Amino acid sequence: MAGSNANSRLGNSLLGLNLVELTAVALETGQSAYRGQQLFDAVYRQRVERLEQVSTLPLEYRAQLGEQGWRIGLPVIERRFVSSDGTVRYLMALADGETVETVWMPEGDGGESGDGSEAGEEMESSHSFAKSANEWGTREAGEEESTQYPVASTQRPVADSRSGEKLPPRRATVCVSSQVGCAVNCKFCFTALLGVKRNLEAGEIVGQIAAVLREQGVEPPMQRVNIVFMGMGEPFLNYDNFMKAVRLLVEGVGIAESRMTVSTAGIVPRIYDFGREPMRPKLAISLNGSNDALRGEVMPLNRKWSIAELMKAAREFPLRARERVTFEYVLLEGVNDAPEQAREVVELVRGMRAKVNLIALNAGAELPYRTPDEDLVMAFQRILVAAGIPTFVRRPRGRDIFAACGQLKRTVEIAPAR
Ligand code: SAH
Repeated sequence: MAGSNANSRLGNSLLGLNLVELTAVALETGQSAYRGQQLFDAVYRQRVERLEQVSTLPLEYRAQLGEQGWRIGLPVIERRFVSSDGTVRYLMALADGETVETVWMPEGDGGESGDGSEAGEEMESSHSFAKSANEWGTREAGEEESTQYPVASTQRPVADSRSGEKLPPRRATVCVSSQVGCAVNCKFCFTALLGVKRNLEAGEIVGQIAAVLREQGVEPPMQRVNIVFMGMGEPFLNYDNFMKAVRLLVEGVGIAESRMTVSTAGIVPRIYDFGREPMRPKLAISLNGSNDALRGEVMPLNRKWSIAELMKAAREFPLRARERVTFEYVLLEGVNDAPEQAREVVELVRGMRAKVNLIALNAGAELPYRTPDEDLVMAFQRILVAAGIPTFVRRPRGRDIFAACGQLKRTVEIAPAR
């Protein structure tokens, strides 16, 4: 049951199977149950790339698993684009040839903290975002830089905590995709232009993180890594696989749920489901419009679930101690960035344990919107702050390489990889 049925698209990929399923694999292949735990540790804690590297297993069992078609199933890093700000955007190839993008942000982007602590607070003092409405001129530079960057993920040594080697303190955020493309059709988002191709399997979600951690030589839980489910796709339209990935990350990889944030465009029934999860990331909601007319225009899904329904779900969301709901608000020049709209946001959020992340639009020729000037963003922020709502301006990361919010998959469409 744990094999091809549970995981058909990936063939016999071990990544994505939980301890119970891996134990079943061990038993089915004539081994003792504890081999399941060994596989679990190898796949998630050690993040081996190949079966032959699972040194806890007898050589012949490694070979036997391979002969039966089992493999680890890590996505392959096809390309990497390195930003001048240190952000790296990875193009990952999946088993069926589809690709998704995953972003590594040293120091994070400030959007990962749903409770107003840590990263979120740090952002208060760094409102540095580019003023220019159109930055596509830098594209070639970013791509050139990326092609010169050595492609050596398979050879790169991974720091091994068990060897007693001292790990340098690292703090970073990985932004992961949950679907190939997206079905939600937000008018300001590049990923929406692709439509949705398919859901990612749990193993493909965890695999993005495992591949990036290998590549960067980072070892959670000793080193601090935040995860944001804010890449391509709508996690709440791939709910079960997303949640399975969360559990594998917590129990297998060793990343605390408090270090994870999921962002939803506002799939209201799933917000209620999510609130009932015993183990869950923090919640961020893409608001992006302050009334139904406006939000319906930029996010057609608002016609299915109105702001009233969305805010009801947000208000009833069972928060943990010191936790807050985050509202993201993409500012579109002349559309939703006026003081009047800021005051409407204040009314929506009033009295909630919430914070607001403002994101100045990452613009592009395909999008019918422009980026507001910095002073407009600041004015919007001041109105919310004056009303007592913790409000941060999210610093765009990796805009020069199309790694910033809403930009994922853009360059792939312009220039297919290889
Ligand atoms: N589908 C989920 C996860 C994506 S998160 C969601 O909608 O929340 C990506 C965040 O970036 C969302 O808050 C989205 O509103 C924002 N975003 C999308 N396109 C953008 C753009 N062009 N510029 C800035 N932010 C954008």
